[in-house]
Amino acid sequence: LKQLLQELKGVPSETKDGRRIEVAANVSSAADLAAVLKNDAEGIGLFRSEFIYMGRDTLPSEEEQFNIYKLAVETMTGKRVIIRTLDIGGDKDASAFHLPKEENPALGMRAIRISLKRPEIFKTQLRAILRASAFGKIAIMFPLITSVWEVWKAKEILDEVKLDLDKKGIAYDHQIQIGIMIETPAAALISDKLAKEVDFFSIGTNDLSQYTLVVDRSSRVLSDFFNPHHPAVLKLIQMTIDNGHKAGIWVGMCGELSSDLSITETFLRMGIDEISVAPYSVLPLRQQIRSIDLSK
Ligand code: PEP
Ligand code: MG
Repeated sequence: LKQLLQELKGVPSETKDGRRIEVAANVSSAADLAAVLKNDAEGIGLFRSEFIYMGRDTLPSEEEQFNIYKLAVETMTGKRVIIRTLDIGGDKDASAFHLPKEENPALGMRAIRISLKRPEIFKTQLRAILRASAFGKIAIMFPLITSVWEVWKAKEILDEVKLDLDKKGIAYDHQIQIGIMIETPAAALISDKLAKEVDFFSIGTNDLSQYTLVVDRSSRVLSDFFNPHHPAVLKLIQMTIDNGHKAGIWVGMCGELSSDLSITETFLRMGIDEISVAPYSVLPLRQQIRSIDLSK
């Protein structure tokens, strides 16, 4: 089997009838980075930047972050790296942020909400990402969006940071693409409006399933209620892909469901453009895509 997968390196991720899908990798730790190219991923579809903020009591400096993003983009030698801005809180440890204790952390201060409430932290991260974008192809992605105004606000803050870099003559990629995660039912339901604001969508099936099915994604006792194949979840995914395409933007997917090979064909038929999975799942997914014939 290992031999078989090795032979898939350098081969296109394409169906039998010639539909090309971009197969990218998720990076959730520094160690994952080395595994991305080893598994021949076509880019980084989700760089979970929060790992830089987790398991520590202090916030990472701009310089510390810049070095990590620069390493990521240089490692990928020209391939796209989608850096998700910090997605802390909820199921992800946020001790460095000293947030007040909440009854329902999954419904509370997390992800883009923290970034908008603490713009100084957000700006430090955006500066580090923008500076690294001078060294390769970076895209920025905002997590846990539920409303259009959040995208406006996030882009406004990004523009302030860009302006400041311009004034200081610091280089960055002026064409940098902006995307959002579609991982709440609200975002999927208004994806027609959101699509007009951004360059791409990436569907986060972990949170989309959690918030649609009202089941804690990390609960062990409720795992039989956590069904990402639920028709409600699939309907929201289809709606997101259709609305993205209507607005002329590409739509990817990066939750755990992305590596569930039993549903790959369904997503291809729905029109998904990019799929991002853990590095070790890249070649099995490519193999699966190559076995599918959408003309049948
Ligand atoms: C998701 O929610 O599906 C996702 C990809 O993001 P995370 O698992 O990091 O919340
Ligand atoms: Mg998520």
